[in-house]
Amino acid sequence: MNCPYCGHYDSKVVDSRDASGGIRRRRQCLSCGARFTTYERLQPASLFVIKKDERREEFDRNKLLAGIRKACEKRPLPTGAIDKLVDDIEAELYRLGKAEISSELIGDMVIERLKRLDQVAYIRFASVYREFADITALKQEVDTLLTGTETPPNQLPLLPEAELAGVVKERRASRKRAKVKIGSRR
Ligand SMILES: [Zn+2]
Repeated sequence: MNCPYCGHYDSKVVDSRDASGGIRRRRQCLSCGARFTTYERLQPASLFVIKKDERREEFDRNKLLAGIRKACEKRPLPTGAIDKLVDDIEAELYRLGKAEISSELIGDMVIERLKRLDQVAYIRFASVYREFADITALKQEVDTLLTGTETPPNQLPLLPEAELAGVVKERRASRKRAKVKIGSRR
């Protein structure tokens, strides 16, 4: 298989494992060194993503990877955790055996996994892809995380982040407003 980045004809297999009835191989281009994944048997001719506006776009692993990387920026994640997450999702997508998959489903798959991996990354990703209905829904989710009612074991501590600072600020502001209201009743 030619390298999808430079077109070179030869690559070496750097990792190979069973992936739900198929074989997944991580390959490295012998010319440019780029890594890419191939699936034997399971990979359909093409997998299209149906976006919310009904446009269709060929599934792009790198695009998915970039979105997740962005959500995980500066988070203390183990090396390879993001790649593994994308590998898992990609394998599951191909295992579904469908030619078309909604971007929403992919988003949900990412969210589900990020929630277990890193809560800050989860909130960042979910706020973009799941379109929390409004700021209240987002705040509720952040509050739930801050109070730890859904903290899975071994979860890294939630660090204050620039993204969350705005939410916390807004929450403080609404608390202040509530106090003012109570005060004015006297
Ligand atoms: Zn190459």
